[in-house]
Amino acid sequence: MKITEIKVILTCPNGRNFVLVKVCTDEGLYGCGEGTLNGNEPVAAKAIEHMAPLLIGMDPRRIEDIWQFVYHWPYFRGGPVYAAAAGAIDLALWDLAGKIAGAPVYQLLGGRCRVGAMVYRHAAGRDPAEAVENVRMFLAEGIKVVRVQQTGGVPGYGGAGTLGIAAPAREGLPGVETFEPSAYLTAVVPFLHDVRAELGDAVNLCHDVHERLTPTEAAGLARDLEPVRLFFLEDCLRPENLAGFRRVRAASSTPLAMGEVFWSRQQAMGLIAEQLIDYLRIAPMHVGGLTEARKIVAMAEFHQVRTAFHGAHDLGVIGQAAAVHLDVAIPNFGVQEWVDFTAMPEVCEVVGPPCRVEDGYAMAHEAPGLGVDIDEAAAAKFPYQPAYMPLVRRADGTMFVY
Ligand code: MG
Repeated sequence: MKITEIKVILTCPNGRNFVLVKVCTDEGLYGCGEGTLNGNEPVAAKAIEHMAPLLIGMDPRRIEDIWQFVYHWPYFRGGPVYAAAAGAIDLALWDLAGKIAGAPVYQLLGGRCRVGAMVYRHAAGRDPAEAVENVRMFLAEGIKVVRVQQTGGVPGYGGAGTLGIAAPAREGLPGVETFEPSAYLTAVVPFLHDVRAELGDAVNLCHDVHERLTPTEAAGLARDLEPVRLFFLEDCLRPENLAGFRRVRAASSTPLAMGEVFWSRQQAMGLIAEQLIDYLRIAPMHVGGLTEARKIVAMAEFHQVRTAFHGAHDLGVIGQAAAVHLDVAIPNFGVQEWVDFTAMPEVCEVVGPPCRVEDGYAMAHEAPGLGVDIDEAAAAKFPYQPAYMPLVRRADGTMFVY
């Protein structure tokens, strides 16, 4: 079997850009993958197109060897763009392997460890009462874990601590959010205590800091939130400096989660080896695909770190399906972040079917491969729309450095 063509499809159904690939073979079978990189989709697409000629003629069943080739050939190895490109190719090769074997990918990864992957959903509110109401909507659907954020009265990524959003400088550019950590900390600690008091102890709650604190601030927050007994506190620091995580660890027993921006094993190794986190938040497609993700996950297993794979709106149906196949096949699964693509009709027209959630558990597809397909004609109806990540500045205009 030989790779004959790699199609790269850049599409924007339901206002979200996705980078999709089809790896085609001389035997008529093809594999579907995804390399969506939030706010950088055309760059990831170009990287895949750039490496595609090198892969033509290769045997797509040599998944590990192709991964090593894709990682090492550029000389300047790694980076989020090439990792996403490698992930797109890798997901397509696992999809193809499943189709060849006539088995879902989770069977190729060692078979089931569980019925489904427990998911967590996102709730928010301007005040505790509104947040509790939104959490309870998910609990009524059978959801077992809910991330809860304070929205702060103005629309903003970080919610509490967001002092305002300035209009874009011109059409097509992102708005600029003004954020102050002191305002965030003042608001969010009583907010989360009140949410916990209203919901009782049995509900699993997470909270995401979006890397917006210093080590001292994060250590204080983790300590102040100990009585809230979070399922985990997410992204309390920027991840580059392990010393900061050591400080937060020493200050409290609040469980910590980190890793949605990671694109390599090197970024995860220190946090895992020193047991500085409890939950690893990588997305398999962003670290180079299932081939690399399962190695990082095995490393985490050896150090009693569980997974909480990234699964927000910034990755799509194929990346989500691949994550669920790994979720159900690994012993150290923790929880899976979740977006409901079944509620997005244009997305479902382009790529699908999305995985279903039953009583709070995402079900891996049973069809051979990843269990998803791409409709190229439908994708062409929703062309790429330029979109950039939002900017954040301090009240005095300083660029906010996470
Ligand atoms: Mg996060």
